[in-house]
Amino acid sequence: MLVRILIAVLVGLFTCQIAIFLTTVFLHRTLSHKAITMSKGLRFACRTLIWMSTGIRPREWVGVHRKHHAYTDVTGDPHSPLLEGFWKVQLANVALYRRGAADKLSIDRYSKDLPADRWDRVLFDRSLVGLSAGIGLLLLVFWGNWEMTLIASGVHTVAYLGLNSAVNAVGHSYGKRPFAGLATNNQWLAWLTGGEGLHSNHHAAPTSARLSFSRREFDPAWWLVSLGRRLRWLEVRHLAPRLSHGAVREAQAA
Ligand SMILES: [Zn+2]
Ligand SMILES: [Zn+2]
Repeated sequence: MLVRILIAVLVGLFTCQIAIFLTTVFLHRTLSHKAITMSKGLRFACRTLIWMSTGIRPREWVGVHRKHHAYTDVTGDPHSPLLEGFWKVQLANVALYRRGAADKLSIDRYSKDLPADRWDRVLFDRSLVGLSAGIGLLLLVFWGNWEMTLIASGVHTVAYLGLNSAVNAVGHSYGKRPFAGLATNNQWLAWLTGGEGLHSNHHAAPTSARLSFSRREFDPAWWLVSLGRRLRWLEVRHLAPRLSHGAVREAQAA
């Protein structure tokens, strides 16, 4: 029994990491900031997998996220710990996200380039159908064992929501601030979130496909992007140059 629970927890953590990498590479770097261009096949695969693993509607995620960049830590930011408080963003990020996604005018304004198409209307706008398909797939993996499926789904959900909240909460509260603004760099968080913990870097150069700026920083999703590039499944449109943070501080102080 214990072994089964352990396997279910590990599968939940693994599927969470798949969703985390899809979020940073597809929703964030490709759709929101256009730092990457994906082949049609890869784009459709990512769209399907994000639907099954999170139920997120990409144009809503992109709209909320672009608004965060437009109003970072000032009135209008959908999830600023400075305005809402650290714990509210860390523990109730879903509610803040839903409030942002429900603002249709805002979503239409910030996601103009991602209008709903036929696939959205038939399939991808139906979050519950996607999540049910994801749970069905897990049930197949576990040969019909419902207990293991529920444990893995629970671990996946809690870990995914907790880590994404941490990017918004911790990533604007604690850590190094090599660049102007409240966003911070935390390498430990970057290891857990496919590089997203290097949040100060990201706010300094939002259109960069690579979030690590120096040789001492590691962006795990960049390794995956590099592999996709070698396989010609995607193209990188913009890369911030490698920097020494000491040089950045000196430039800011000058
Ligand atoms: Zn931010
Ligand atoms: Zn961004």
